[in-house]
Amino acid sequence: MQLIDIGANLTHDSFDHDRDAVLQRARDAGVVQMVVTGASREHSPQALALAQAHPGELFATAGVHPHHATEYTAECDAEMRALHAHPEVVAVGECGLDYFRDFSPRPAQRKAFERQLQIAAETGKPLFLHQREAHVDFMGIMREFDGRLGLAVVHCFTGSREELFDYLDRDWHVGITGWLCDERRGQHLRELVKSIPANRLMIETDAPYLLPRTVKPAPSHRRNEPMYLAHIARELAHDRGEDATVAAANATATTRAFFGLPAP
Ligand SMILES: [Zn+2]
Repeated sequence: MQLIDIGANLTHDSFDHDRDAVLQRARDAGVVQMVVTGASREHSPQALALAQAHPGELFATAGVHPHHATEYTAECDAEMRALHAHPEVVAVGECGLDYFRDFSPRPAQRKAFERQLQIAAETGKPLFLHQREAHVDFMGIMREFDGRLGLAVVHCFTGSREELFDYLDRDWHVGITGWLCDERRGQHLRELVKSIPANRLMIETDAPYLLPRTVKPAPSHRRNEPMYLAHIARELAHDRGEDATVAAANATATTRAFFGLPAP
């Protein structure tokens, strides 16, 4: 099984003491490539540095998450554009809207989102999108850029059937995490994932967040790692009624085409 984690926050400080071991465990679990999420002014350059240190294996996104939207100044915009000049940076984002936590004021979130969509429009790079409890505004802002954007993935999809079909109708991709394995809030995904065409479906851990709750034995720590992508792939395949190797191969092919990744 060859897997690709499209969302791993490997610059997170919880990995500082054992990042090499984390990468090795991922390889041992069949995770052959990973896209390191860049989600702030501080961490996006670190994501690029990690990708440059592991050519062909790690890739990066560069962006500013809605939680950090207030840091999106003109200077920050210039920094993001400089990062996007590097071929290891394969997507614009993580960017979008998060009205669930509202860590940044909503007008600041919308402005930071629009400026990053402008970068995607100019560079033609795919978008790595985040949307939580902000569907109407999110769709409205995306509509402003109709016809100017390339590919887009709504990462860590946790939403409703209606939201899912809005995305698929726009021909966007969908990222599924271990949220699927959460019996308290992810049960609806078990049914919804059957409706995602294989050529629109990608998988991710969102490590160190969202440790799949069905991993057995449950690790003593709460930190998620890319190696658990294999577990997510198996659960997803089960829900879709697919063979795990087929589901994994499909997700990997979709991911390579989406981000333009070379075979390792
Ligand atoms: Zn996110």
